[in-house]
Amino acid sequence: MSSSSSTTNRRLEGKVAIVTGGASGIGASTVHLFLEHGAKVVIADVQDELGQALSDKLGDNVCYIHCDVSNEEQVIDLVDSTVAKFGQLDIMYSNAGIVNNDFGSILHAQKEQIERILSVNLIGGFLVAKHAARVMVPNKKGCIMFTASACTKIAGIAKYSYAASKYGIVGLTKNLATELGLHGIRVNCISPFGVLTGSDIHDETKKAMFDRIMGEVGNLKGKILKAEDVAKAALYLGSDEGSYVSGMNLVVDGGYSVVNPSLF
Ligand code: NAD
Repeated sequence: MSSSSSTTNRRLEGKVAIVTGGASGIGASTVHLFLEHGAKVVIADVQDELGQALSDKLGDNVCYIHCDVSNEEQVIDLVDSTVAKFGQLDIMYSNAGIVNNDFGSILHAQKEQIERILSVNLIGGFLVAKHAARVMVPNKKGCIMFTASACTKIAGIAKYSYAASKYGIVGLTKNLATELGLHGIRVNCISPFGVLTGSDIHDETKKAMFDRIMGEVGNLKGKILKAEDVAKAALYLGSDEGSYVSGMNLVVDGGYSVVNPSLF
């Protein structure tokens, strides 16, 4: 094998990454994949037991740091502790998020619930990007990614506060790509749909629903998207292979949003 293929096999060699929401689901899959590709990885989450156990399992190139992304002091500590431990920060994957399971009408929306979703999903994204940029700008390089959602492409698959938070992330991505591009920093987001994660993995009703939905996209019949499918998109954007990609919303839904643009 040529040296170029071995480089391709370890696409994040020498890089340091933070994955917020890294204890579970898409975040945990990304932690595994980044590590496999030679990165040192910090798992940031609020589920301390899960995050610490994952870190302990994965060895010395990983550590867990408690961080509620909606708390700026904790985000500052996350970024500064990462640089103190691993010496640098190359990739910030702002992936932490919460969903509202309320599929009802805006007429019943609760202000507190709206604020909670926005504070984690959108303001959390702002804070994480702000403090990643603080250490990346002087180095004139870096990569910031967010997890948005394919609900930014299909009207109606998610309701008010969650949808607003993810549309906000797409706007933030484009805006930051413009400003931070001047400092050599790329900013992108990834928009998944239909990935069974967290407690949903054991939810037979959700499984059947996703199976039916994905069956509507011919090439996805019988195949539910996995967290690893999204992690691979993060690997592409985070590695040098994505070095000319910035300001993009990379949809990872098997083509579902194209086949069914206005569903539900
Ligand atoms: P998940 O619940 O498995 O993972 C989310 C993680 O974020 C959890 O570990 C959770 O503890 C953590 N988290 C929650 N609040 C936090 C906070 N305040 N600070 C730090 N961490 C916090 O779910 P997932 O599906 O892997 O979700 C990851 C991201 O993908 C989310 O932003 C979600 O909105 C987005 N997303 C998922 C799908 C999907 O189909 N699963 C679709 C679209 C978007």
